[in-house]
Formats: sequence, C-alpha cells, structure tokens
Amino acid sequence: MNLEHYMDGAHVPSVSGETFTALAPATNEPYLTVAAGDAADVAAAVSAARKAFTDGPWPRMTGEERAAVLRAIAAAIESRDDLLATHECRDTGLPITQARGQSRRAAHNFRFFADLITTLGEDVYRVAGSQLNYVVRKPIGVAGLITPWNTPFMLETWKLAPALAAGCPVVLKPAEWSPLSASLLPEIMEEAGLPPGVFNLVHGIGEEAGAALVAHPDVPVISFTGETGTGRIIMRSAADHLKTLSMELGGKSPLVVFDDADLDRALDAAIFGVFSLNGERCTASSRVLVQDTVYDSFVARLAQRAARIRVGSPEDPATELGALIHPDHYDRVLDYVRVGVEEGARLAVGGSRPASLPHGNFLEATVFADVTPGMRIFQEEIFGPVVCVSPFSTETEAVELANATRYGLAAYLWTGDLRRAHRMAQAIEAGMVWINSQNVRDLRTPFGGVKASGLGREGGRHSIEVFTEPHVVHVATDDLPIPRFGLV
Ligand code: NAD
Repeated sequence: MNLEHYMDGAHVPSVSGETFTALAPATNEPYLTVAAGDAADVAAAVSAARKAFTDGPWPRMTGEERAAVLRAIAAAIESRDDLLATHECRDTGLPITQARGQSRRAAHNFRFFADLITTLGEDVYRVAGSQLNYVVRKPIGVAGLITPWNTPFMLETWKLAPALAAGCPVVLKPAEWSPLSASLLPEIMEEAGLPPGVFNLVHGIGEEAGAALVAHPDVPVISFTGETGTGRIIMRSAADHLKTLSMELGGKSPLVVFDDADLDRALDAAIFGVFSLNGERCTASSRVLVQDTVYDSFVARLAQRAARIRVGSPEDPATELGALIHPDHYDRVLDYVRVGVEEGARLAVGGSRPASLPHGNFLEATVFADVTPGMRIFQEEIFGPVVCVSPFSTETEAVELANATRYGLAAYLWTGDLRRAHRMAQAIEAGMVWINSQNVRDLRTPFGGVKASGLGREGGRHSIEVFTEPHVVHVATDDLPIPRFGLV
C-alpha cells in the first residue's frame, strides 16, 4: 500500500518524490510505502491551511455549524470501527481488543468537543457605570499537530477535535512508525463535509517534516505529544517565532500501595496500568511502590499474574500483550532489561522474548523488584511492558520515592485511609493523580504533566485555550474622565 500526503482536499506525493517504509511490528516486514515529507511539502500544506484560515468558511462558521461537522466526523469514524481497529492493530502491534477501544475513544473526542464548543461562553467584565469589557476567543491560526506512535489515531483526534472546534485549520504530522490509521482521516473529513484546506496531513520523519512544521512562520501554535527530548528541540525552534506550545511529554508514573488498601484491586490496577497498550503508554504505572509490610506478598502475586499475561499475535482476541512498535524500540526496551539486571535489580519474571514467538517485537511481561532510586530503570522512561517495584515504610518515604524522578505526569494512590490519600495527592509532583482508581479519563479535566512531563494542559476548555487567542474589547458606557494634555 502507498500512503500520500493530503492537502487542500487532494492526495499528493512528496515534492521530492521521496518515500519511506513502515514495518509491521508483529513480523517486522515492510508493508507500507509512505510519502516522506520535507520543508517543501510542509510549506504547501501550511499554505492551503493558511488560505482556509484567511479566506475560507471554517473559522467564520458558528460553533453550532462546526459542531455539526464534528459530529459527522465522529459518525464517520464509528462507521469504520472495524477497519480502524485492524489498521491500528497491524500498524502498531496493539492487541486487537485494545485497538477497538481506541477508535471508540476517537469518535468520543469529536462528540465531546462538538458539545463543548456549543456550550462554552465568553467573559464579560463590568465596571459599574463606566465600562463593559468583553473577551472573545478567536481561532489562533493554522495549528501544527505532531503526534506519537502509541495509540496514534486516538491521540491524533485528541488534538484534531479541539483545534477544529476552535476554528483552526490544521496540519497534522503523524508519527513515522504508525502512519496507517491517519490515512483514513482524509476520507473521514470529506464524508463529514469539512471544507478543503481545513485538514491537511503531511507524513514524514520527525527531524524533517516535523521540524519544518515547527519552524514554519505561518503556524502560530504547535501541539506536540512525544518524548521529552523531542519536546526540548521543538521548544528551541519554536522560540524563533514565539509560538504557543502545548507539550505532552514522557512519564515514569508511580503507583503507591499502602498496606491498608484493597490489595486485590490495587494489584489489578498495577498490572493493567503498566501492561495494557503493550506498556507503551505515557501514563503507565511503571513504578510500583509498595509498603514494606505487604511488599513480599504483593511482589509475588504481581510476578505470578505477569507470568500469565498472554503475549501473542496482535490480531488474536485472546492476546493481552502484543508486539512493540519497531525493532529499534524493541532493542531499547531489551537494553533496559539488561541494564536493570546489571544494576542489581531482581528480575522477578519475564525479560525475554517468548519462545513461541521467534519473529516480531515480542517481550514477556517483565517485573523488576527491589529497584532503588539510583537505578536507571527507576529513573528513565522505558515505554514497554516493564515494571519496577520498590519498597517503602512510611508515608514520607512514599512521597520522596514518588517524587524522585524528573517526570511528573500521573500518580496512582491505593490506600483505605482517605485523609492520607488526600495528603499524598497534594504532596506528589504530578499533573494528574488517581486515588483508588485506575486511569479513567474525564475529558473535561486538564490533562498534562509537571517537571519533564510537559508544559500546558489539554482537555475540555484547556484545549480550546491552546487553539484560540483571547481578544478583549473595552467599551465605555459613560464619559470616563480623560486626562487633558496640551491645554496650556
Ligand atoms: P517522539 O518524540 O520520538 O516522536 C513524536 C512525534 O514527534 C513524531 O511524530 C515524530 O516524528 C516527531 N518528531 C521527532 N523529532 C522531531 C523534531 N525534531 N521536530 C518536530 N517533530 C519531531 O515520541 P514517540 O517515540 O513517537 O512517542 C513516545 C513518547 O511520547 C513517550 O515519551 C511518551 O511518554 C510520550 N507520550 C506522551 C503522552 C502525554 O500525553 N504526555 C501521550 C503519549 C505519548
């Protein structure tokens, strides 16, 4: 199959004619040829989007009118549920059962922002007897959206829906390791009646197509999800044009288990939190901190359950853990397994390719116990099915350990003592904390992290703020005194 760029309502090859190849994670065989965009393709896509912004109907439509198109996009996504799930499964190695959830969530993203844009008000500030100051939010301009390969379609729609709802034409640059599901977006947008030039797609390598989008002067906002290191590079480049940035970056999120918790539920949540989505999840509970009184038994049960997680073909509905995205990433994760062993952590279970799966990027669910904060596997984001477990004795120690990395995306607390849970929630450096719960999203709440996990928030009105500029109009309602210069 050949994938092309999409701009101004048309599918086009790269100006240079260059392509790259995508691999299927379950076999590592090449199965897609993809247009490799560079600055010339980005310039053409931005020019189409810019024209849609300055002359087209989209930014000028009412919220209701745009919402109707967004709802039609959601319906068009749902009508391709099977195709999207199989594409996502094949392209990313996600188990098919989990890939299905992604397309449902993608449709929900569009419905959610359709509802939001029709209900969001704007602000008025009254100064009694003298002024009425009102604030309108205007679409900021062409939005540059750069997305990663984990749950690609869901994350693309998480940015597309609010940007379009806000009235911004977009240029999307999907991750080069997972370009397939994005190739359905042009037909979805056309079927829903989105005007040409509003949605534009440029495939390509991050350092070329992505970097060109960040550097383009006519793109005033970049919404980026990806690695912290890439985020830094993007911020430096974006500084040249003082762009608005929203950065959703990496994580190394703690899941803290106290001995008074519902330990069965805590165990279920710990396992699901780190092994779902192949462990390639920014909010993965990749560090499990367990109170010493229950540590040994909790680690034993965690290892026993992890050993039974079904690793297998992503297309098999029985599979719980599929294939990691790419051989380079697979090698990186395996390197971390080696590093963990060398650093002296106890490999409780996993760490190898299952004997029954000689090809593709398959790794057993892996549990390291007795991990200490000085170890790299405690500090660095592995982004695979590898969990690090560490003991603690007191609440103070739990907070110290939870905060002992440069990341601060999510945290999960398991305890029967709600006062302690709230104390901990305040003390933990994370953008999002779940108490006695797995990671259930509420799309209205601010999503994002602190420290090296990001900058800015998306979700609900926070997303709309990313893609709009507030515009204040001050109106005198009476004769305000004006200091009079130049009279003598
Ligand atoms: P990545 O940073 O390698 O790539 C992300 C995107 O950026 C890709 O489209 C890539 O092509 C592009 N890119 C790469 N270099 C670029 C450059 N110089 N200029 C512009 N664009 C560039 O990340 P990844 O490996 O695709 O994704 C995994 C990472 O994403 C993990 O760190 C994970 O934690 C993070 N993530 C964060 C969240 C969140 O919401 N915080 C969600 C999902 C994933």
